[in-house]
Amino acid sequence: MRRAVCPGSFDPVTNGHIDIVGRASTLFDEVVVAVGVNKSKSRLFTADERIEMLRESCAGFANVTVEGFSGLLTTFCEERGIHAIVKGLRAVSDFDYELQMAQMNASLADVETVFVPTSPEYSFLASSLVKEVATFGGDVSGLVPDFVHERRSRVQMRGVHFSMSGHDKSLEVYAGSGSVGKTEDSWPPPRRSNPPLPTLTAPCRGVARRGAGPASPGRSRAAGRRRRRRRSRPP
Ligand code: ADP
Repeated sequence: MRRAVCPGSFDPVTNGHIDIVGRASTLFDEVVVAVGVNKSKSRLFTADERIEMLRESCAGFANVTVEGFSGLLTTFCEERGIHAIVKGLRAVSDFDYELQMAQMNASLADVETVFVPTSPEYSFLASSLVKEVATFGGDVSGLVPDFVHERRSRVQMRGVHFSMSGHDKSLEVYAGSGSVGKTEDSWPPPRRSNPPLPTLTAPCRGVARRGAGPASPGRSRAAGRRRRRRRSRPP
């Protein structure tokens, strides 16, 4: 039995992920999608939500299961007798990191990494970009699987509003004005106000401070009086 794992954080799952998982499912007898559940401050979706969304999205693949994992991926593989890790490659920029990771994993356990090239239509697609587009009001339908309607209220709580757009079953995500959650898992993180600017105590040389009075009004007036007295003295 040939088994493989497709690891990632899937925050959220995109059509690029599903494409890789689907293609892996034709190469291996069994595929386990491993969802990283390590605590991170920058997650939009909780671990349970990410797992649930993947289960929904992968329901059409008979030989694919979804599990959460924390700690080392190689430990996850060893515990399940899995010897192949499937990763999608989008661009050269992915390759540097993925090669290093593949070599590290091979040094830790008896696992090979299989690289699957992204389909051209998903080569620009990354979860982080989807989140960014969503936050600034962009329509991400066509980039992510069709999520169920009820999920939007939960995400709304975290400052990003998911809603079904006019077109059938597609999904639109936009930044909401709802309160941003304060849990560790919330994304985007709550805004912090800027620290107060340092107060200017002396006029900067060469910089006109429009409307600003002299640094020391008392001394300045005395200097003016002295100047006037000097000018009125006979030569
Ligand atoms: P990370 O674990 O870095 O947060 P992701 O969860 O976003 O990564 O993605 C997991 C893996 O899915 C990536 O390592 C990559 O192999 C693959 N992947 C992500 N997006 C795409 C895409 N658009 N096309 C092909 N593969 C992708």
